Amino acid sequence: MPAPSYIHHFFSADTCQAYIRTLRWKDRPLQCPRCQSQHLSPWGNYYYRPGLKRYWCHGCRRTFNDLTHTLLAQSQRALSYWILATFLWCLSCSSRRIARELGIHIRTSYRWCWWLRNAALSYEMDRQLDGTVEADELYHTGGNKGQALHGGKKHLGRRARRRRKKREPGRGHYDKDRPAVIAWVSRQGPVVVQAVRDFTVTTVQKAADLAVEAGRRLYTDSASRDRALKGYVHEYVNHTRKEYARGKVHENRAECLFSLLKPYLRVFRGISKINLPGYVGFFQFLRNFRHQNAFQQAELILQAALDPVIASRARRGDFVTCLDHFDLLQTTIN
Ligand SMILES: [Zn+2]
Repeated sequence: MPAPSYIHHFFSADTCQAYIRTLRWKDRPLQCPRCQSQHLSPWGNYYYRPGLKRYWCHGCRRTFNDLTHTLLAQSQRALSYWILATFLWCLSCSSRRIARELGIHIRTSYRWCWWLRNAALSYEMDRQLDGTVEADELYHTGGNKGQALHGGKKHLGRRARRRRKKREPGRGHYDKDRPAVIAWVSRQGPVVVQAVRDFTVTTVQKAADLAVEAGRRLYTDSASRDRALKGYVHEYVNHTRKEYARGKVHENRAECLFSLLKPYLRVFRGISKINLPGYVGFFQFLRNFRHQNAFQQAELILQAALDPVIASRARRGDFVTCLDHFDLLQTTIN
């Protein structure tokens, strides 16, 4: 036997199929994805897809299989590719790295990563923090990656010349390709990370209303937009006076979260401001499920990807555009 170049060649197709079948029907009844009828009969297998079960629906008189209407449907690649790609994605590999490790085209892995990221965001849509919450902000220098010259999705017709942009002096702003990122960290564990246009009082207040339950205790630094926040029991430390902690009042967890976010984002080399909410949202998913290992996180994502409703929304990129802070980034609020 020639030595395989890729690790997933050791995966057995039958085990992968059985695993995906269990994930798909674990929490939902075996039913037709088109008409929801549960009046079904087995309908054999596919000769080119060993282990993939096919069913006949008596309701709509059509067949379907374990993958119909999921993100993995009609994929040319075996399930072992998908499982390994999701696992590597949870280990924060870039789509380029995943393409190399799997031996697939870069555009395939980019599309998969985009879908899987969206599927993961379905877990983070309604997250609101309670308990004592710390907050901090940072500016992210966006890049031109995957963008036409003036933004948008136009195909460049060539390889992009630049990745990361040089940063301009002064404060950041979405229009200066230097959007802001706000982190809200609950001392009970969960986090919310939002990409926003700027740090004006209106934006920060709106972001706080989305991320933190009203009336909670909030610790920030002494920036004026934070001091103007309403609806919370608010205390702050004064960094300009070299005050970093006053008893229980500090925001060191939020600072720590940024020290993890920065190297995470650096792997992807100059994410544009348009794609930033998706990446930041996925980082939030990884942090909120950090007590599980990468494979358990991958399992959560695969389970979401096997839900027909989530899958169709993830294909359209709905979760990024519905992400509650996406409009904080896209529209002018002032
Ligand atoms: Zn049916």
